[in-house]
Amino acid sequence: MKITDVKTTVIKGNFEWTLVRVHTDEGITGLGEAYWGAGVKETILHMKDMLVGQDPTDVERIYQDMYRAFLACGSTGGIAVTAISGIEIALWDIAGKALNAPVYKLLGGKFRDKIRVYADCGSDPARRPEAYARKALEVRDRGYTAMKFDIDGAFPELPQRDRYNRCLSAAEVERMAGLVKAVREAVGNEVDLAIDLHWSYNTADAIKIAHRLEEYDLMWLEDPIPPENVDALAKVTAATGTPICTGENLYTKHGFREVIEKQAADILEPDIPKVGGLAETKKIADMAESYYIPVAPHNVSSPVGTMAAAHMCASIPNFLALEFHSADVAWWNDLIKTDKPMINEGYIQVPDEPGLGIELNEEVISKHLKKGETFYA
Ligand code: MG
Repeated sequence: MKITDVKTTVIKGNFEWTLVRVHTDEGITGLGEAYWGAGVKETILHMKDMLVGQDPTDVERIYQDMYRAFLACGSTGGIAVTAISGIEIALWDIAGKALNAPVYKLLGGKFRDKIRVYADCGSDPARRPEAYARKALEVRDRGYTAMKFDIDGAFPELPQRDRYNRCLSAAEVERMAGLVKAVREAVGNEVDLAIDLHWSYNTADAIKIAHRLEEYDLMWLEDPIPPENVDALAKVTAATGTPICTGENLYTKHGFREVIEKQAADILEPDIPKVGGLAETKKIADMAESYYIPVAPHNVSSPVGTMAAAHMCASIPNFLALEFHSADVAWWNDLIKTDKPMINEGYIQVPDEPGLGIELNEEVISKHLKKGETFYA
């Protein structure tokens, strides 16, 4: 079997979803998805020349070829790795279809039949505790056993923060804790609760807020400080009983190695259509497992990237929960041909059909394409 073409189409949802389709001379096509970002689509199409004529089932070798070809211009992180991720996922879909096996089987088989999904709940712009509590109850009532909220950002009633110094005032720490308290009191301890800080604070203030939140027994506190300095993150992690999570900003196993070796985080959140794809995430998860670190993949994808993630999550022992970031996009599920919701009561059933086990709904996708896009033209 040989690759004959590589195409993309970009959907405009609450993020941009860059879908990849790899064609072969045997009529099998593979579906993939790459994380959003300027230049991702162009980079995928740029890689077409090196892919055409290759056997798509040599997934790991093709990954290495793409990675090495872009080493001088970005394959240690950024757009190139994101583009590679989308293609890699499509190659696994082809390999599964060619071998008549679901992708999780190619990744070593499954530890679980269904994947626990946590709902990203965002924030309330006015930072009202009662709005956080209301949202938490609504999400719990839809069957989710885990959820995540954002509590970083300005409180309208407090003096405006300096946008650059990464400092937190005592008043802000108290109000942030108040938001978490409201959620915890609303849903009790039956629901696991994560909090995202989006790389916002300095090391000392990150430790302060992490300490303050210890009484709410978080599943994790995500990205309390900027992502560049692993030693600073290790200091935060060592200083608090609140589990610290990072990883959506890291690329490839090389980007995770130092974080894992220094135990700079308690939980890792690689983003599969961004970090290097399915096999690279599995390697990261295996490295993490050697330090007993759980993996909770970051996910802002369409159903394609989300189902790809589900196969990977099925295949590792140290899986914690998979993010879902599009609960408010009414047509998200309709992007694929299915008669039932992909996420049901907070879980994704891992499919046994060959490949990723999903098919696109062209009619629905065509209604939601990014301006100027046509369906895989
Ligand atoms: Mg995050």
